Amino acid sequence: MSAFSHAILYTLLLGASVITGFFSYEGRISLNSQGLEALEIVEEYAVSSPLEEMGASVKMEEYESDETTVELTLENGEKTKMSLEEYVTGVLLAEMPSWYSEEALKAAAVAVRTYTVYNLEASGHICTHPSHCQAFYTFENICDLWGEKSAREVYEKMLFATESTEGEILLYDGEPILAVYHASSYLHTRPSSEVFGGDRAYLVSVSVPFEDEAETQIRKSRVPKHTLYSTLKAEGGVDAVWDGSRCVGLRVGDKTFASSDIRSLFGLASASFEVSEDGEDYVFKTYGYGHGVGLSQSGADILAQRGWSYFEILFHYYKNTSLAILKNNE
Ligand SMILES: [Zn+2]
Repeated sequence: MSAFSHAILYTLLLGASVITGFFSYEGRISLNSQGLEALEIVEEYAVSSPLEEMGASVKMEEYESDETTVELTLENGEKTKMSLEEYVTGVLLAEMPSWYSEEALKAAAVAVRTYTVYNLEASGHICTHPSHCQAFYTFENICDLWGEKSAREVYEKMLFATESTEGEILLYDGEPILAVYHASSYLHTRPSSEVFGGDRAYLVSVSVPFEDEAETQIRKSRVPKHTLYSTLKAEGGVDAVWDGSRCVGLRVGDKTFASSDIRSLFGLASASFEVSEDGEDYVFKTYGYGHGVGLSQSGADILAQRGWSYFEILFHYYKNTSLAILKNNE
């Protein structure tokens, strides 16, 4: 099916206002075709608002799984059991800014659920360590942090994102995907091969909307010159290497290092950086926050503000995927 007939199909299914939403993004991005084909599959499933309000329905395939309970390992080593849906809400409370738009929170809910099912199937291990698995808060945790009134408002918002996408996960080639996500990216996300090793057809570099004036996205880190030289076992002039609008490396003398490795080695906020000299230090000016692979949380919010629905957002960040609904055999 051509891109044009996809657009027509999409218009028929969802109505013109969503289309306007996705064409308004400077015409650079179109909905993934594999994603569109997912709309035609098997069991009929009505997507919740705002599409529901438009009288639209989307067909979604089913994915059979027994993984609907999470045994969560807490920081103190204790384990606690809960439903997958309860866990998803707890991760959203800890990982997503509460002021983000509804569709961005729903996209995150699907990513969190998918990432969790992937891990449950792979190892069964789920812990609360943010750099290993995903951060997690209970309602009591956020009451302590923000007071009960604010906590209740935030909880209701995250619960809505979970409930309105209940059981929904992303598949590639019939299997749940490694739906990694990060806080924000500069202009492009990174392919998984660059950060985690190994190619994944759904974790490729995609363009992201970036508000480069947003001060919160720009940070500075100082690294003493002698630390940089001794860590990298290299010496000489230091320069960031860019491939078009994507930072890919750091050149030190005649050696070049991958920018993602530089981020991990020196604890930088992001692998997108410029570098300058200041006395005995190198100063890294970084753009964005996190490893840069998969869904950008702030990018999702910007798209949601521009009228994208949660699954348009998901299909943009996770290429060649389709939405499915979990079906428990028990
Ligand atoms: Zn873990």
